[in-house]
Parts: sequence; C-alpha cells; structure tokens
Amino acid sequence: MRYTVDNQCVGCGLCARLCPEVFYMGADGFAHAADKAVPRASVAAADAAYDDCPMAAIHMMGNGAFGSSRLSVPDE
Ligand code: SF4
Repeated sequence: MRYTVDNQCVGCGLCARLCPEVFYMGADGFAHAADKAVPRASVAAADAAYDDCPMAAIHMMGNGAFGSSRLSVPDE
C-alpha cells in the first residue's frame, strides 16, 4: 500500500511532520509521498497523516502486506 498527494495540498507540512518516512515537502512547497510501500513501522503514522490532512489531499493506493490497518477491516 502506498499513498499519493493530490493538487488540493496547501503545503501545511502536517503530513511530513507526522510521518516523515512516507511524506516529504518538495521544492515546490507541497507534500509528496514516497514512491514505495509504507513500512510496517510507519503505518500508524501514515494513517494519522491521512486522517488529519486538512485538505483531504492524501489518498491510498493498493493494499500490500504492510497496508493500512483500516483496509483490513471488513465492510459492514
Ligand atoms: S497535511 Fe495535507 S495539506 Fe498539509 S502538506 Fe500534507 S498533504 Fe498537504
């Protein structure tokens, strides 16, 4: 599982502070997500960034072995 950041990002930097293993601020002033699967140790922090982004600019892609815990919750 990976994350992407769309063009709604306003560059507040919150995601990069919460989970620097996955999100970083680019020279363009906006957040970007590392182009690799989220490490197991970073899943909770990445989830927090996803939840707390004020612009809902972070999106999940796929569901790998170390995917977000929320993606393993069955639909009700
Ligand atoms: S938390 Fe959201 S708005 Fe803030 S830098 Fe990250 S992606 Fe951009």
